[in-house]
Amino acid sequence: METKYLENWLRDAHAMEKQAEEMLKSQAKRLEHYPALRARIDQHLEETTHQADKLERLMTELGIDTSALKDMGGKLSAFGQALGGMMAGDEVVKGGIASYAFECFEIASYKALIAAAEQASQPEVVRVCKDILQEEQAMADWLAQHLDETTRSFLARADDDNVQAKK
Ligand code: MG
Ligand code: FE
Repeated sequence: METKYLENWLRDAHAMEKQAEEMLKSQAKRLEHYPALRARIDQHLEETTHQADKLERLMTELGIDTSALKDMGGKLSAFGQALGGMMAGDEVVKGGIASYAFECFEIASYKALIAAAEQASQPEVVRVCKDILQEEQAMADWLAQHLDETTRSFLARADDDNVQAKK
């Protein structure tokens, strides 16, 4: 059984989690007016750190060289820039959209990884990836359910700012 792809995808997943960590950290900093969102992001940041650790452990167990992983992270893709870049004040809404899209990307990645691990008869990889998948799904669901509320409170704050500025 060819395991090259399984190994590559585990590495990719690890890189994805390192990027998620950076994105969630930079997002959490700017959410002082959105306590519920902030709390959910903080929770997922903790889950994400554990996910990266779990993937590292899996790779070590499979004999995959993890020495190069230390340099990863901190490099932001287009997703990260949408979240991390300072935008025209509406980053809470843009961040909500990008976060939801990112979680969906993670969900799809773990589904492919689980299928590959099943093919390769790697039950421990399947188990861990299914656990992680559940966390991603829960985060995606939460974000999807709260985006309208976040948008409304952002717009209400923007209105308030306008009223203040005209006084
Ligand atoms: Mg994740
Ligand atoms: Fe996630």
